[in-house]
Amino acid sequence: MNIVLFGGPGSGKGTQSEKLIDKYGLHHISTGEVLRDHIKRETDLGKIAKRYIDEGQLIPDDLMINILDDVLEKEAKDKPGVIFDGFPRTIPQAEALNDLLRKRGKELHAVVGLEVPDDELVKRMINRGKMTGRADDNEETIKKRLNVYHNQTSPLREHYKKQNKYVAIDGNREIGHIFDSITKELDKHAGK
Ligand code: AMP
Repeated sequence: MNIVLFGGPGSGKGTQSEKLIDKYGLHHISTGEVLRDHIKRETDLGKIAKRYIDEGQLIPDDLMINILDDVLEKEAKDKPGVIFDGFPRTIPQAEALNDLLRKRGKELHAVVGLEVPDDELVKRMINRGKMTGRADDNEETIKKRLNVYHNQTSPLREHYKKQNKYVAIDGNREIGHIFDSITKELDKHAGK
């Protein structure tokens, strides 16, 4: 089972991923975490990524797609399934994901969309910034990230709805209730 966890910044993708890993034994790939790790290790890629992340902008598609191809090759080869968290974020990335999976004889089963209103997303990110010190969780960058989400990423909802892969989840609830809805939907999909 290969699934995408989709939603705005702060919608709970990371939190729900952790719970899904426990339940289904899936491998988790968070592109944001991959990039933050490069920044921490001060690699060349980290230096490039930092410029975009600090501005609340997306890393260019070509670069991001190459990074994902690399991570899939190194980490996910023998895994029964992957949760993609934070990828794809653009239509070209969605098309690339399709190709990357297909060339490995795999396919995408579902896109779980965590739907949360903007004012709640802002509250959560401000809170996360205070708790973790995450650099892009400050008010100015949060606004830019939300704009990027609405302009570049949210068109993916329609893209995946057309393919019958989009599963809408009300993400503005308690963590356990959200998780119950996700697993119910995924079990339905698996049974198809
Ligand atoms: P996240 O941890 O998913 O919120 O990602 C943090 C930041 O990393 C984003 O604001 C982007 O600058 C960058 N990023 C993560 N994933 C992607 C992606 N799929 N495409 C482009 N940029 C990304």
